[in-house]
Amino acid sequence: MSCDYAKGLSSYVNKGKCGLPEKFDDEETVETKAKMVADMIKNAKHVVVHTGAGISTAAGIPDFRGPKGVWTLEQKGAAPGISLSFNDTVPTVTHMALVAMQEAGFVKYLISQNIDGLHLKSGFPRSKLSELHGNMFIEECDQCKRQFVRDTCVTTVGQKCLDKPCPIPKKGGRTCRGKLYDNILDWDAELPFDDLQEADNHSKMADLNICLGSTLQIIPSGKLPIANKANGGKLVICNLQPTKYDNLADLIVNTYIDAMMLQIVKLLGIEIEQYVQESDPTRMKLIKTEQIFEWTLRKWQPIAKSTRKLPCKDRKAKKLKKEA
Ligand SMILES: [Zn+2]
Repeated sequence: MSCDYAKGLSSYVNKGKCGLPEKFDDEETVETKAKMVADMIKNAKHVVVHTGAGISTAAGIPDFRGPKGVWTLEQKGAAPGISLSFNDTVPTVTHMALVAMQEAGFVKYLISQNIDGLHLKSGFPRSKLSELHGNMFIEECDQCKRQFVRDTCVTTVGQKCLDKPCPIPKKGGRTCRGKLYDNILDWDAELPFDDLQEADNHSKMADLNICLGSTLQIIPSGKLPIANKANGGKLVICNLQPTKYDNLADLIVNTYIDAMMLQIVKLLGIEIEQYVQESDPTRMKLIKTEQIFEWTLRKWQPIAKSTRKLPCKDRKAKKLKKEA
């Protein structure tokens, strides 16, 4: 699927401020601020990082509201003209820096609005990651709610049926009778419960929330980084455009995120590993044929019948009935 995936979702009216001019701190200021961020990280007990589309532009994926963002161009009557597929994108310096910072214990939890699957590809552990808007490389069972890694991106968006059976065997050799769906949220869809719950808990608990590449305009994701303010927690924002919560930030860095992260990891005394396919679950599936890689945030729990989605054929029938 092309990186311009939003075309497959319903139209969205609350696009907020698009195309605001970008600001750039000079080199010396970035250096000073990177030192300040590194010191804040060293002195914090619970650092939570929040990522938005801005961290993936270096991977060739357009953002929404930047000068060349999908919605900025749309308002000018232009299209981004993207031919890049999510299948061909690889994690950026920032994605790999976050893996290193988590492994070294500097980052306790990561919350992402991105659906590009680059945190998954980077090898970031699922137990320390909330994906609030879905993931292009994940399919989810409508009955047992377990999630599985795909080797190619989904063919649909908006939580539609992929017409594939759930691969999980139940006791007695019977497989789960659920069907797999994409987990890319449409604009009015409810956020995944467990991911949101964990994100909310960690954001509140954080003595330092760091936002990378988001204008924080989407609710509730954009509001999470300020959830620690009532407890006296700190907020750092790194973005090129102004964000909704600049007025609450303890520090704002206006520069390319990769450039800032390179300086921060150096100051923390850790090294960024190169992206390798062998550690990328979407590629590992190709190497180890037939292996199932699970991406469920919590262990399987029975789902109340009333909350289950209808099987594909029943949903289609219901839709036809509605249209008739
Ligand atoms: Zn299932």
